[in-house]
Amino acid sequence: MNIPFVDLKIQYKVLKKDIDNAIQSVINKADFINGEATRLFERNFAEKYDVKHCIGVANGTDAIYIALKMLGIEKGDEVILPANSWVSSCEAVVQTGATPVFVDVDKYFNIDITKIEEKINEKTIALLPVHLFGQPCKISEIKEIADKYNLYLIEDCAQAHFSKYDGQKVGTFGDAGTFSFYPGKNMGAYGDAGAIITNDDDLAEKVRMFANHGALVKHKHKIEGINSRLDTIQAAILNVKLKYIDQWNEMRLRNAQYYNEILKDIGNIKTPEIIENTTHIFHVYAIRTEHRDALAEFLKENGIQTAIHYPTAIPFMEAYTHLNYKPSDLPMSYKFQDEILSLPMYPELKLEMMNYIATMIKTFFETQSSTKS
Ligand SMILES: *Cc1c(COP(=O)(O)O)cnc(C)c1O
Repeated sequence: MNIPFVDLKIQYKVLKKDIDNAIQSVINKADFINGEATRLFERNFAEKYDVKHCIGVANGTDAIYIALKMLGIEKGDEVILPANSWVSSCEAVVQTGATPVFVDVDKYFNIDITKIEEKINEKTIALLPVHLFGQPCKISEIKEIADKYNLYLIEDCAQAHFSKYDGQKVGTFGDAGTFSFYPGKNMGAYGDAGAIITNDDDLAEKVRMFANHGALVKHKHKIEGINSRLDTIQAAILNVKLKYIDQWNEMRLRNAQYYNEILKDIGNIKTPEIIENTTHIFHVYAIRTEHRDALAEFLKENGIQTAIHYPTAIPFMEAYTHLNYKPSDLPMSYKFQDEILSLPMYPELKLEMMNYIATMIKTFFETQSSTKS
């Protein structure tokens, strides 16, 4: 059996007519930039999130950068974020001129809320938690810390479209929530795309202006901006996909629960833990094992594609050696980078595929123990 890590073609086959029509209608109207479908998607997304504003931008990295920048974050400021995330979370902070300050992760792979306060000082201006793999951070507690120290709170929701914490959708707890619609995300466009949501009228206006060359009206450049807009064609595709996202998230959760069931007693692997009062949308299903590399190799030989999120925690990447973090500063993140392994995960993953994966993992651990003894 051959099982890809993700399969983006299945959804296209199902939605082909609607998606092709959506793309064609943008082309027919030559409505490519700041088009009708973009405005419609922004309204639909804001409505589904029950927030006042959604502003489409070019990608999820820009979404974080623009939100931080328009909150006034600049050189001399410090922004607190988790050590294990996609590199964007850090790039966006550095782009504003601010310094990233890393906090270790907990066993749920999210920022460890018990280690945030010790990193706060007079330079700290914002908290940038990431709802990694689709599982919400302990965001109510993080919000309390932000309020206590009067810090901005920006939620990186690139992997957590419509995840909930205590019944409330993540991205709505802080000053802004940022999203990526990179093709492989739970809600993916057919190219780069992103968005920012907020209930702050002033921030929303600044964000919209900055992302569109500093102008709300053509040729009226009030501030110096950048070019970071959500493509109309991408927005048209996202308008189709928005109708299915809840269903896809539920299918992912069901798959994850099934994985947890069939993998629970195999070898020394640890299956992901789901925090009780959250709705995890399983963008990534990551197990942990000390035999990670050998297991990944074995699965590959048997037709199963896996991935690692992430092989190097951000502060230990070559690009950030100048920040001088030591493994002992961030022990969990350092340990996890050698132990985590992401198994195939997408809504349409079949039971027999998961059964085959479990069988292969079991076979791997049986061979392991027999070669050892
Ligand atoms: C994907 C991702 C981003 C960035 O998204 P792009 O659209 O690829 O720029 C940011 N943060 C996290 C956690 C992500 O997974």
